[in-house]
Amino acid sequence: MTSSSHPALLHLGRYLRLDDNPLLAHAAATHETLLPVFALDPSVSRGPQQEAFLLASLADLQAQLRERGSDLLVLHEAPPDAVIDRYREPQRMIDADALPFDVTAMPRTYTPFRQRVEAAGIRTSQPIAAPTTLPPLPDGVVCPTIEVPALEMIAQGGERAAQTHWLQYRTRRLPDSYKQTRNGLLGWDYSSKLSPWLAWGCISPRRIATDLAEYEATYGANDGTYWLWFELLWRDFFAARGEHRTQQHAAYNNEPSWQMMLTASTGNRFVDAGLRELNATGFLGNRMRQIVASYCMYERNVPWQVGEAYFAMMLIDFDPASNVGNWKYIAGTGADPRGGRRFSAEKQREMYDPDGAYTRTWSAQ
Ligand SMILES: Cc1cc2nc3c(=O)[nH]c(=O)nc-3n(C[C@H](O)[C@H](O)[C@H](O)COP(=O)(O)OP(=O)(O)OC[C@H]3O[C@@H](n4cnc5c(N)ncnc54)[C@H](O)[C@@H]3O)c2cc1C
Repeated sequence: MTSSSHPALLHLGRYLRLDDNPLLAHAAATHETLLPVFALDPSVSRGPQQEAFLLASLADLQAQLRERGSDLLVLHEAPPDAVIDRYREPQRMIDADALPFDVTAMPRTYTPFRQRVEAAGIRTSQPIAAPTTLPPLPDGVVCPTIEVPALEMIAQGGERAAQTHWLQYRTRRLPDSYKQTRNGLLGWDYSSKLSPWLAWGCISPRRIATDLAEYEATYGANDGTYWLWFELLWRDFFAARGEHRTQQHAAYNNEPSWQMMLTASTGNRFVDAGLRELNATGFLGNRMRQIVASYCMYERNVPWQVGEAYFAMMLIDFDPASNVGNWKYIAGTGADPRGGRRFSAEKQREMYDPDGAYTRTWSAQ
C-alpha cells in the first residue's frame, strides 16, 4: 500500500479501540503522519455516568495510542457530516455486505432476519488484528491529557477494561448460564454487561463472536452460548434497520413526563426503583428497561420519543439504533410483529422481584 505524505485527521467515532479497528488499521497503513481525533459535541447533553464512561474510554485509548507513539485529540465540536455515521453506528457483528440479503430486502421483523442469517450459516464477520505500528502525529500537534471525572461507576470505560471484563466472563463460564439468568434485575453476573463497551466501540462485536465460537469449541456449545449470540444479533438487527434520532434533551426537558423520569416519580414503586437505578448508575438490565418503558408509555402516557431521548441521555450504553429500535418495538411502531408490548408491572414484579429485594435496594431512602 502506498503512503500519503499529507497528514490525516482520523475521526474515530464509536471505534474507541486498537483491536479490530478497520478505520485505524487503514489510516495507519496509508499515512505517514496521523492525528486520531474524537469530536465531543458540546450541544449533546449527557448524564454524568454516560459522560464519565465516555471520557474514561477516550482516556484509555489516548494512553494506548501514546504507548505506540501516537495520541488522541478531543475536539469540542460537532462531528462533520462526512463522518457522522461513525459517531452513530458502532460496528456490527456481521458486516452489512455479508448479510444474505440486500438492504432493500431487509426483513421487517427479527425472526425472519435471524432465520435467514442462520440458514446462510453466518455467525460473525472476521475481526482484524490491531496495527503493530502507528504513524507519528503531524509536527507541532499537542494533545492535552483527557481528564476523567472522579465518579463511582459500575463499569470502567476503555478497551483494556472491556477485554478484562470479557475474559473474566468467559473464564468463570458465565456464558453457560446466560439463558437462565439474563432476565435478572439485581447484581452484576446475570447478563454479560458488554453493552457499555460495545456501544462506544471499546470492544468489537466481531471479536466477541469469534471468542464465543472458540469458547464453544473448547467447552461445548449450549443454549447459553447460543442465546448470547442470539442477543448480539438483535443488536445487528436494529443496526441494520438503521433508525436513529439526534439526542433531544433540549426539546423535552421541560415536559412533565421528562421530570417524572428524572425524579423517579411514576407512582409505581417497582418502576420508580428502575428509574432510580438508571439515574444512579446509567444502566438497567434488559427486563427492567422493558418494564420501565412499557409502564411509562402505556400507564403514564409518555411519548416513546421522550422516553427514548431520556434513555439516550442517561444510559452508559446508549446506542442510537438499539435505543430507538427497542422503544419503537415496545410502542408497537417498530419491528414488533405483535404491535407493541404492554406489560403488567404488577405481574412482572411478581415474576422478577417476588421478594421485593430489587424494589427495596432502589427505593427512596
Ligand atoms: C427501552 C430499551 C432501550 C434500550 N436501549 C439500549 C441502548 O441504548 N443500547 C444498548 O446497547 N441496548 C439497549 N437496549 C437493549 C438491552 O436492554 C441492552 O443491550 C442490555 O440490557 C445490555 O446489557 P448486557 O450487555 O448485560 O446484555 P446481555 O443480555 O448480556 O446481551 C448481550 C448483548 O446483546 C445485545 N442486546 C441484548 N439485548 C438487546 C436488545 N434488546 N436490543 C439490542 N441489543 C441487545 C447487547 O449488545 C448486549 O450487550 C434497550 C432495551 C430497551 C427495552
